[in-house]
Amino acid sequence: PSIEYETLRRRLYHNIMEFSNFVDSQISQAKAELKESKQADNSLSYFKSMADEFKRSLLTDISSIADVDGYADWRKVENVALSDLIQRRLKYLQNPKDCKTAKKLICDLNKGCGYGCQLHHAVYCLIVAYGTERTLILKSRGWRYSRPGWEKVFLPLSETCTTAEGITKSHWPGNSNVQVISLPIVDSLSPRPPYLPLAIPKDLAPKIIRIHGDPIVWWIGQFLKYLLRPQPNTSKMLDEYKERLGFKKPIVGIHIRRTDKVGTEAAYHNLDEYMNHVEEYYRSLELKYPVPSKRVYIATDEPKVFEEARIKYPDYEVLGDVRIAKSAAVNSRYSENSLNGIITDLHFLSLSDFLVCTFSSQVCRVAYEIMNYLNHDAADKFRSLDDIYYYGGQKARYQKAIMPHTPTKADEIELNVGDEISVAGNHWNGFSKGTNLRTYKTGLYPTFKVIPKVETASFPTYSQVPI
Ligand code: GDP
Repeated sequence: PSIEYETLRRRLYHNIMEFSNFVDSQISQAKAELKESKQADNSLSYFKSMADEFKRSLLTDISSIADVDGYADWRKVENVALSDLIQRRLKYLQNPKDCKTAKKLICDLNKGCGYGCQLHHAVYCLIVAYGTERTLILKSRGWRYSRPGWEKVFLPLSETCTTAEGITKSHWPGNSNVQVISLPIVDSLSPRPPYLPLAIPKDLAPKIIRIHGDPIVWWIGQFLKYLLRPQPNTSKMLDEYKERLGFKKPIVGIHIRRTDKVGTEAAYHNLDEYMNHVEEYYRSLELKYPVPSKRVYIATDEPKVFEEARIKYPDYEVLGDVRIAKSAAVNSRYSENSLNGIITDLHFLSLSDFLVCTFSSQVCRVAYEIMNYLNHDAADKFRSLDDIYYYGGQKARYQKAIMPHTPTKADEIELNVGDEISVAGNHWNGFSKGTNLRTYKTGLYPTFKVIPKVETASFPTYSQVPI
């Protein structure tokens, strides 16, 4: 299939969603304005319920096109082959023949932040290692989540080379002759190489764009896939827990991030907001087949959520563990026994068929990234209640206008075809907010008038590793 076909198919799906978000928000507004008229209220409720049915039917049809257009197998085979190539390249990079002379990049896992944030930090280090063709040495002794280090739960990054020793040493950027370079956290990285996220490799971009709805998520997922290879004990723990939990499909994963995040980095969202999307997921699924049992897996740092869910949603099987939530709460988060909890929650969120969470949380973004390397392309299998997908501390997402827009309200901005926009976020009501890089005006514009711009950069091509 051509890039044009794949991007058009995905664009249709997103535009139906955008259209429906627009209709929803306009109906809510009209209802608020027409409060006193019972008749108008009834008409609008009828309009909304029909519009919702239209939307479900359209989305189901458009996503089914990918199953019947004859390319489904091709997509899967291509995805597996490309993922395998990246994993082999990483294996090659991480297992030099002679560790004494190997070029190394040193990265300290102990960034002063949570598990999701530290995983993203490790991914950034591995991307720089890949970009500089240096073996990554991940220092993790004394890790806040496990004193003995990374290898307690995940396989070492290398079978041949895990020591930081070398003859010549330097801080970033150093030069290509220095044997050992230490990398700072991305926030203080200078100069910044061009291949940091959100860039994907130029040579592989045409392939990645065809096989995945959000190429950068695929790319980040490949690095997590290498990093998160579990130790046998970790696999055993997860398998046993799965059995005890009765984890079965279909299931929707929800991540409810509260405690220290609320009011500082994110707004409060009540359980019903998450569950509305879960309900919507099951209503669409029921268009395909009868669903005998609706399940949700809940991951949260707020232990009270489980009881609330069981009382308010008695027709649901609520999976999850209040003890994990207790170990996730801000006061006990970094104790050694919280590690298995966060690994478990991320595992089951990512195994779910659909994810509802807040992309402002790194836990939610990591779950989504893992979901995407497990499922080939799960780019549409989520609803974020706040941000669009991004990669922390790095470049904004960019879009390109493919239709002109003349503002009709004061908070909207003008678009000309070809304008580039730096995106601040999607308001999930048909409009996004961003800055037009031609006019430097910031404001709202209809999301269907733009397409995402995929950033690319040159990376080493690892000719030593056969395609
Ligand atoms: P963010 O603060 O949500 O962006 O994500 P971080 O991963 O950087 O930090 C939050 C930390 O809180 C996590 O790493 C966990 O230690 C804990 N946490 C938050 N939500 C959950 C959850 O749903 N389950 C578990 N087990 N831990 C969580």
